[in-house]
Amino acid sequence: MWLEECQKTHQKCRGKIVPYLPARVIDAGIEEDNSTRRLHVTGKEERGLYAALSYCWDQTQSITLLTTGTLSAWEKCLPIARLSQTIKDAITTTRFLGLRYLWVDALCIVQNSLTDIPVQITAMGEIYKNATVTITAGKANFLDPRQPLESCRLPFYVSTEVQSSVTFTIDSFENRTYRSHLDSRGWTFQESLLSSRVLTNL
Ligand SMILES: [Zn+2]
Repeated sequence: MWLEECQKTHQKCRGKIVPYLPARVIDAGIEEDNSTRRLHVTGKEERGLYAALSYCWDQTQSITLLTTGTLSAWEKCLPIARLSQTIKDAITTTRFLGLRYLWVDALCIVQNSLTDIPVQITAMGEIYKNATVTITAGKANFLDPRQPLESCRLPFYVSTEVQSSVTFTIDSFENRTYRSHLDSRGWTFQESLLSSRVLTNL
């Protein structure tokens, strides 16, 4: 997988120490573990690899938020059915990448706590910087099937031997992620700028 290859073989990407986990993360579970997804409250000095989600809150739906009232219930079980498709897709992606934890602002910041909000907002720069990968969701339901882009593959020669191949893709300018709603937002710009790896849906 590309993430493993990046972590193990790229000179500039290797050697990062396992970072401290944010104060709370979603425990996406481990492979072949079908137990419920939970909110994990990080222990003192606890370290771990995690993904972070960069997205825009869906203004058309009521958003499920972490509050002081839901905190202890969510530590046992997240209300998956009430989460937006974007967040559900991000949890699936986190597991697929082989990462255990995911940070999502709506679910990891206590949204009715006047003490937690400023602390977590101040920490957000570090949270995105230390994430193994930032998943940017330019649109909801980003794992939905889509039309494959028209492309062609050409061999790539070094001296007389075929070494590899290059893929050319035709993509309309309007479809590009940097033209999407997400990229008109200051927050998400900061999030992608700070991240060491960004997984995006073109
Ligand atoms: Zn790399």
